[in-house]
Amino acid sequence: MGKEWEKFLNFRCTCCGNCCREPIVLITDEDIRRIRKHTGQEPSEIAAFYPPSEIEWGLDNPGWIKINEDWRIMGLVRKEDGCQFLGEDDLCGIYDHRPVACRRYPFDVEFDEKEELSLLGINDSVECPYELDGRYDKREIKALVEWEDAEEQPYFKRVEAWNKKKQGGGPRKFFEHIDV
Ligand code: SF4
Ligand code: SF4
Repeated sequence: MGKEWEKFLNFRCTCCGNCCREPIVLITDEDIRRIRKHTGQEPSEIAAFYPPSEIEWGLDNPGWIKINEDWRIMGLVRKEDGCQFLGEDDLCGIYDHRPVACRRYPFDVEFDEKEELSLLGINDSVECPYELDGRYDKREIKALVEWEDAEEQPYFKRVEAWNKKKQGGGPRKFFEHIDV
């Protein structure tokens, strides 16, 4: 008999758009490059810097950036009712170029010591009216998490280097620092 969590391998997104309306989507420099190449937008049109009051992460998370004198997290620019790329049809307008975090959402994932998938859950940060008649491969989910990690870790290192600099600066200088 399969494990209880394996039912989520049959997850199917019903395209309700909730996860594109409610949370702030955290992004990396690679996400900005990908979106910029597709949309032609300036980095400041893609990325905004959100204060601790808007993000649930603790201040020990490596994504916090010292922007001028304040701690900020970089996320997608939002419009009043959610992500700027969410269409009126509740579909993503940059689907093939969307951030890696959007591709992995809503899965919460754990791996065992052999790096095999050992737990799969559905993140409860927004109401997700999913169905269980889809089909995911464990390797597909592992590849997504590895991709996310491969872009996040170098980005966090760039953030760390920025935070250590004596003369920080605002968003424009930070964009120069991460070379977007
Ligand atoms: S980029 Fe696309 S998938 Fe990601 S939050 Fe925006 S609309 Fe949703
Ligand atoms: S909240 Fe769940 S069902 Fe709705 S769009 Fe996001 S992943 Fe799909």
